[in-house]
Amino acid sequence: MAARATSKPKRRSASTKRNSARQRTLTPTRVIELLDGEYGTLPWRPAGDPIAELVLTLLSQNTSDSNSGRAFIRLLSEFPDYESLLDADVKRIEKAIQPGGLAPTKAPRMQEMLREVWNRRGSFDLTFLKDMPLDEARAWLRSLPGVGPKTAACVLLFALGMPALPVDTHVHRVAKRLGLVPEKSTPEQAFELLEPMLEPKQVYPFHIQLIKHGRRTCSARKPKCGECPLASECPSAEIGQS
Ligand code: SF4
Repeated sequence: MAARATSKPKRRSASTKRNSARQRTLTPTRVIELLDGEYGTLPWRPAGDPIAELVLTLLSQNTSDSNSGRAFIRLLSEFPDYESLLDADVKRIEKAIQPGGLAPTKAPRMQEMLREVWNRRGSFDLTFLKDMPLDEARAWLRSLPGVGPKTAACVLLFALGMPALPVDTHVHRVAKRLGLVPEKSTPEQAFELLEPMLEPKQVYPFHIQLIKHGRRTCSARKPKCGECPLASECPSAEIGQS
């Protein structure tokens, strides 16, 4: 007969029990519901030219929205159209996009990306992507030089109305704290895990609400857990209480 284990089961602390209960209950659907209650719902209205979204997202890498917006406006005022960027002196492009930071890196990258689009399509009209299955459209964009998963997802979601999830620093941080993805996941791993959890119609609100929440409440340095509408179900709710 097998000997019965005689050691007592370890007692779990109250906070461990609380955290387990929170981890079991929180789902993306619940997160959207609670954050919609806090920040209001926003209709998903895809707008804009996909090539403009592509250029703007490239400019937004490692800088704020206001800086990348200024760089984009200067680029448009300096060059009459995207075609004129193909053979432009890269130093001129660099100067135009200076407010967006990292101009010496972004200018040649942007020019290379635009040249590749032109070589493949003979135009800058990317609306054909809307007629492709999501994964094929994503793969087409990602095969362009300098286009990573977040940039491709921004073009698909915001300009083309396709349910691709951009995982930026806020989405990634909040998803980790909520226990939706592992603490050690990379943004790319987080995207692989999160997107399949969402219904297509949930992708936009999930992205927007997590960004809002990351900026206003669940900030990197000082999360305001005491004011957070997710606190009673968040497994990390203690971090902002100290
Ligand atoms: S309870 Fe704290 S850690 Fe959890 S989502 Fe809210 S602010 Fe972030």
